Order: sequence, then structure tokens, then C-alpha cells
Amino acid sequence: MLEVVNPATEEVLRRLEPASEEEANRAVARANEAFPKWSAVAPDERARMLRRLAAALDDEQEGLALLESRNTGKPISDARAEMGMVAETFHYYAAAPERLLGDTIPVPGGVTMTFREPLGVVGLIVPWNFPLTIASWKMAPALAAGNTLVLKPAEITPLTALEFERIALEAGIPEGVINVVVGPGSTVGQTLAEHPDVAKIAFTGSTGVGKGIMSAAAGTIKRVTLELGGKSANVVFADADLEAAAASAPFAVFENAGQDCCARSRILVERGVYDEFLSYLKESVEALRVGDPMSEDTQIGPLISAEHREKVASFVPEGAPVAAQGSAPGGKGFWFAPTVLSPVSISDRAAREEIFGPVAVVIPFEGEEEALRLANDTIYGLSGSIWTRDGARAMRMARGIDSGVLSINSNTSVRVSTPFGGFKQSGVGRELGPHALEQYSEPKSVYFKTEED
Ligand code: NAP
Ligand code: MG
Repeated sequence: MLEVVNPATEEVLRRLEPASEEEANRAVARANEAFPKWSAVAPDERARMLRRLAAALDDEQEGLALLESRNTGKPISDARAEMGMVAETFHYYAAAPERLLGDTIPVPGGVTMTFREPLGVVGLIVPWNFPLTIASWKMAPALAAGNTLVLKPAEITPLTALEFERIALEAGIPEGVINVVVGPGSTVGQTLAEHPDVAKIAFTGSTGVGKGIMSAAAGTIKRVTLELGGKSANVVFADADLEAAAASAPFAVFENAGQDCCARSRILVERGVYDEFLSYLKESVEALRVGDPMSEDTQIGPLISAEHREKVASFVPEGAPVAAQGSAPGGKGFWFAPTVLSPVSISDRAAREEIFGPVAVVIPFEGEEEALRLANDTIYGLSGSIWTRDGARAMRMARGIDSGVLSINSNTSVRVSTPFGGFKQSGVGRELGPHALEQYSEPKSVYFKTEED
């Protein structure tokens, strides 16, 4: 029996029978059966159906936020913002079915038209850090492009996915179009990755599991998009607005208790302002409000599980160079105090591996060239930030950093209308924006012969 736990209280929220491989196979069969009809729904009608679903998500936002907060431990204010983005993602892609345009290309002897065809059944495998949000980034473009889907949430955070399935059915999405299967990655996830009737896997999670999915998908030449780990740099030059950079830096790494693939967990600071920056940073880290996720002004909740807390704690052993530390409640719950490590060398484990918890490292640098070298000294390339008042330098750095998403004088990463995804081992493909639609459809060229040979 699977016990779904509240990480802030350790209370069991729900007991579920985990799905077997046979159930995963049945879900693929249902999605396959629903595909011909769903893909043939006229674009204006599919758009209407997605708009109704988006409106239902607006209405159900508060209930979903409460559920997501209880299941993940994230602060209720964060959960509300995330559920807002879930609805917004569906509003955005509801406009897409009528905008899946092709080209007409004059060629010798006739004309070629291009169409964007849906892929078929897509398998969506998502993690526990932003459960419904990350699922919505995949589901909305997949459905808009005419695919049916099987969604496998992380076993430990399945509750909002199950609610979503109900909301979608009630909003009129036909049976079989959306199929949620709650079961372990090693069985249900693996089954989807190998299944001959699944045309594509869209995965978000660890780089290790992503590699396994890529190779499991090779057997049937599935399309694969992967959104994996990160170890992003937050680069602060001496001429930056230091106070603003230091006030923002903790949220860029500790928000969602650091369980964020975009976490800017390597803070690179120009040596001349290193001490000043660190003292500002210390002040803002100590002021972070860590505690009850249900309280309106809580900023940081617990980690997802006891096991994960152990992994995070291994990056802060006895004698670690703790430069700043916030607070954490005692008692029940998987709490971990926000921690800043410095000085740290770029070759230290804490500076190289994705910690996925509230632990940041601060590393000094000397000049632009070294900043760029350190920023790129990682196998990852997901996000990052550059803080400086020199616009030309900001642009040079932004073009030089091998990363999918960058911000200048800001630590934000994700917007519904802009592409999101990684360079290097942070992933393959892009989510959100118009780019995601391309990853859930296939171009088809049709040649129409108009001239005699
Ligand atoms: P994970 O193991 O990669 O899990 C992500 C999803 O993949 C879950 O739904 C998981 O299912 C499923 N899965 C696991 N093994 C699978 C397999 N062999 N085939 C198909 N699907 C499989 O990530 P995690 O264990 O939750 O977290 C571990 C680390 O991954 C974190 O510490 C962090 O470094 C990274 N991570 C990154 C992101 C991100 O946003 N990029 C998100 C989460 C985690 P079950 O969990 O139900 O078994
Ligand atoms: Mg795992």
C-alpha cells in the first residue's frame, strides 16, 4: 500500500494501491483508443474544450493549492501561485489548436504543403517538486496538438494529478484522453518508456533517470524531451545593485526549500564586494520565515521526505564552512535550515552536484573572464542570472553562459509564453511558449503535383 504523507507533519494523507505494469498497459490502450477521435476534433471545438478546462481550473484553484501544499509541504502562497500558473498554461494553449499553421512552398512541378500532425499517445513522467505545474506544462501543449496522454506523477505526490483527472472529465474532456496512473517509476514509468504504442516520453526529474529513459525509448525510436537537473550560477559583479542582488539571492535558491531545478545554487561574487555581499546575504537568510506551510506568511516549508533530507544533509557535514544559516522548526516534519557555504572551491562536491535542498555555495571571482569560466564549469546548463549595471557586459555574459534560461538583474526563470529547458546534461527540448507545440507534433510535407512531366 502506498502512503501519501504530508512532509510538514508526517501525517498520512491517503493510502493508495500502487498501479501495476498491467494497469499502465491498460492506460496506454485507453489513450490509444481515444486518439483517433480526439485528434479529429475540429480545431475550434478543441480550443473551446481546453478553454472550458482552463476555466474549471480557475474555479478549483484554491482546493488544488491546499492539496498541493499538504502533499509537498510547500507554503500555501507558493502553491496558490503555482495553481494560477497551471490554469494560465491551459488558457495559453487553448488558443493553439487554431494556430497550428503550416507552410505552402512552391517547388518544381507543383506545391508542397506542410501540416503539423499529433504524435499519438504521449507518456508524461513528472517529479514531486512542482507536481501539477510541471504536469500542466506537458499536458496543455500535448492536448492542444491533438495527442492523448498517460500521466505518471511521482508516487509520493499524486494527489493533484488525480484531482486534475476528475476536473478534466467534468469539464468535458472525453474519457480516455487523459489517463493518470499512480505507480513506481521502475515499473509504471519504465513500461511507458518501452511501450510500442507510446510515441513520446516527456520527462522531468533527475539526470540519472533521464539517461535510463532515453535508452529505454531507443527501442521504439520514441521522441524524448527531458528536463533534468541544474546547478545554476547567480553571477554578481561589483557594479551591481548589491542590496537588491543579495535580497533576491536567497529566494533564487531556497524557494520551494531548494527543490527546484532552476535553483541558482552557485552564487559567484566579484572579489571586491565579496565581504559586503556576504553580510547582506547573511541578513536576508537569517530573516527567512521557515515553518508551517499553511501559514500565510511562511516563505519556506520542509523537504519532501526523510530520505531526501538525509541526502541534503550530506552536503553540510561537521566542520562545513557555514557562512550563514536560517532557522528551521524542530519536531515532526522534514525540516532543514537554509544554509550558505563559503568559502568553497569550484571543485568541492557542494559546488558540483545538484543538492536539491536549501544549501547554496558562494564563490569569489576576479573579472568577467573568470566569472564566465566558473559559470560554465558544470555538466548542467538550465538557468542562471547576471547582476551588473553594465548592459554590454550583461549581454556578453548572457550570450556566453551555456544555459537555456537566463535573467539579467532578476532571478526569475519561467513564463508560460517563453521557452524553458536546458543545455548540456540539463535536458533535451523545450517546454512552454510556442516551442512546446513543436515537440508534441510532427511536421508532414505533402507534395501536390500540378504540372505535366
Ligand atoms: P527521479 O527519480 O528522477 O523521479 C522523477 C520521476 O521519474 C518520478 O515520477 C519517478 O517515479 C520517475 N521514475 C523513477 N525511475 C524511473 C524509471 N526507471 N523509469 C521511468 N520513470 C522513472 O527524481 P527523484 O527521485 O524524485 O529525485 C531525485 C533527484 O532528481 C533530486 O534530488 C534532484 O536532483 C532531481 N530532480 C530534478 C527535478 C527537476 O525539476 N529537474 C525534479 C525532481 C528531482 P517515482 O518517484 O514514483 O518512482
Ligand atoms: Mg527516484
